[in-house]
Amino acid sequence: MNNYFIILGAGKGQRFSQKKPKQFFDFNGKALIDHSIDKALKAKLFKKIVIVISKKHKNYFKKYKKDKILLVNGGKERKDSSLNALKKIKKFKPKNVLLHDAARPNFSINLLKNLTKSLKNNKAVVPIITSKDSIKYKINNQIFNLEKEKSFLTQTPQAFRFKELYNLSIKQNKNITDEASLFINQNYKIKFISGENQNNKITYIDDIKSQKTYFGIGFDIHKLIKNKKLFLGGIKIPFHSGLQGHSDGDVILHSIIDSILGAIQKKDIGTYFPSNKRKFKNIRSTKMLKPILDNLKKKNIYINNIDINLICEKPKVSKYRSKIINSLSRLMKINNYKINLKGKTVEKLGLIGKEKAIACEVITSLIKYD
Ligand code: ZN
Repeated sequence: MNNYFIILGAGKGQRFSQKKPKQFFDFNGKALIDHSIDKALKAKLFKKIVIVISKKHKNYFKKYKKDKILLVNGGKERKDSSLNALKKIKKFKPKNVLLHDAARPNFSINLLKNLTKSLKNNKAVVPIITSKDSIKYKINNQIFNLEKEKSFLTQTPQAFRFKELYNLSIKQNKNITDEASLFINQNYKIKFISGENQNNKITYIDDIKSQKTYFGIGFDIHKLIKNKKLFLGGIKIPFHSGLQGHSDGDVILHSIIDSILGAIQKKDIGTYFPSNKRKFKNIRSTKMLKPILDNLKKKNIYINNIDINLICEKPKVSKYRSKIINSLSRLMKINNYKINLKGKTVEKLGLIGKEKAIACEVITSLIKYD
């Protein structure tokens, strides 16, 4: 095992148009570049992982064990960066070297194994995939279709015998987009193996826009009293009593509001609608829900799903389930399949069992896009 893995992470990512360099952007929970480093370490195929980076980011890599990691300063262009890395490891007399773009976090360890295995009988091994899109090209204002069967896309990691790659790199003075180009320019043989469709390159901020999921829990209970209308999930339900409270006492909506506030870490319903405030007296709970939903929209947060337990002896939940779900779906502007309503009786026990109160609990899952 005389293999070295070089990660090119010194690029400025000009097409990425963000202040922070692309390779340090959060991607599925960790920095983009960490995906490649961690996978290369886990593969146990390499003597050292060589990370080519800008000098000012050196401190970031202190968290990795020194014996496996080698930091190299990036050069002006890609070819300079990779050459810096090759020069740095030359003294170790490496047999094989793999070069990889830090902007491709999704390759598999299996691909690393295939590449190193194929190097036994080849001097250059490059993973390729076919294009899913039709490609056109232009010569002197005339457009041509590229024959799909004859064309393919090259990815990284690309694997080479160190000696051959070093000799080609040292002579190279034109810019290159990948190391395979060096072999192609000299008409040297390359072994192409199957690449991976998921191993795409993160180029634009849109490629990396992350989404985060949050959960919140809500609970509410109100006493049932005579001469009041019963509101559940924003609609009137025929019943002998209604729910006591400063508002219409809609336990479902109150629990939903609290679960949303929980998920976005914004305290609780009482903070926004204190029960000692006159102006909220007899307020319909639908009016309390509205500003909470507006706030979600403003923050680019969407509802994944809502699961509701309505805890009461009566009314029978099965009788009103679809009505309540349809009402919630209308109020919250979400599809009704995102809402589940379960009815739960309490074996006639306690206040709820004696039809003196209704309780509700809700779990809501939200998704936030950057
Ligand atoms: Zn309440």
